[in-house]
Amino acid sequence: MANDRIVLPPVNAKKTNMTCHFCIVGCGYHVYKWPEAQEGGKAAHQNGLGLDFRKQLPPFSTIVSPTQQNVVTDKDGSRHNILVVPDKECVVNQGGGSVRGLHMASYMYADGSQTGERMKHPRLHTGDQWLETDWEQALALYCGVTKKVLDAKGPRELCFDSADHGGAGGGFENTWGAGKLMFTALQTPLVRIHNRPSYNSECHATREMGIMELNNSYEDAEVADCIVAIGCNPYETQTNYFLVHWLPNIQGITIDKKKEWFPGEEVGDGKVIFVDPRKTASIAIAEATAPDRAIHLDLLPGTDVALFNGLFTYVIEQGWIDKGFIAKRSKGFDEAAKANQLSLDECSKITGIAVAKLKQAAEWAYKPKAGGKMKRTMHGYEKGIIWATTTI
Ligand code: SF4
Repeated sequence: MANDRIVLPPVNAKKTNMTCHFCIVGCGYHVYKWPEAQEGGKAAHQNGLGLDFRKQLPPFSTIVSPTQQNVVTDKDGSRHNILVVPDKECVVNQGGGSVRGLHMASYMYADGSQTGERMKHPRLHTGDQWLETDWEQALALYCGVTKKVLDAKGPRELCFDSADHGGAGGGFENTWGAGKLMFTALQTPLVRIHNRPSYNSECHATREMGIMELNNSYEDAEVADCIVAIGCNPYETQTNYFLVHWLPNIQGITIDKKKEWFPGEEVGDGKVIFVDPRKTASIAIAEATAPDRAIHLDLLPGTDVALFNGLFTYVIEQGWIDKGFIAKRSKGFDEAAKANQLSLDECSKITGIAVAKLKQAAEWAYKPKAGGKMKRTMHGYEKGIIWATTTI
């Protein structure tokens, strides 16, 4: 494999589709695969990308970098180049990549490389280091300790702390062997995954409220009047969702779609409110892109409940609520309003956010539009709401 340049696919390279393994955004990529000894030429008619590399390409013609290529070994021992390139036709990423997706080729199974070796040889993590070991020692340790616990105490004394984010990178749910080992062979009931105290839903009772998680269309972000991003950093964690579907909204690029979808309704450029103690990359980008349409509620750590109670109370006081919807869909609203009552002054004192900024955020997100139409506000939330409520 060339490290100092891109090996271009020939025109007859095999081209397949793949979805990125890393996050739930699900970006589309193309994989070009061809025999190791072959290489496409620089002229457009000589390479599988159909691009003319003899001169400077226009911006965003494609994305290619050394991390996107590799030489893989098939089961029959034949070696092939692969090049993994973002798919421009995919509605999700529209040709965009991210630092994770653009590394997919680098971890494909390649004999003689780190990925090939790692599959064949166990390692032992000890003294804060991964050390070479052999199967005899690895199995003696794993099975020996496990057997000792099982013999002495039974399966309830075994606890697994497992990775569980899906994709081909693989959490245990889609790794048959790991699931069978924990639940069928060792029969432990104690498995915790990812960021959760047990093998439970990540979502704090939203299912019980009839709202399944990850339920939004990406187009919701394109047409929302306001996006409230709570404890999430979408540029770094869901890059193309943010770049391709959020940013165009606050840039005003999706205004025609809003007019078409919501005829007769007041529409404007989207706004975004970030709730995060840190100034993340997402916030910096949004503020640089549209400073008058981005607010950063930089609350003090651990004060998010106070923030939401303050906003909740203020919004009720202003009458910015849909009483009919609440009566039809909820129980105990008045009690909840009373129990969680918090003035904006008090909220400001606890969260460290100025009252004026709190009011501005409440207006952007919840003040009804002309004619009393409620705002189309999308709430994207992650750490903070999720962790606080699942771990308390
Ligand atoms: S945003 Fe990045 S990590 Fe997520 S699916 Fe797309 S390319 Fe993969």
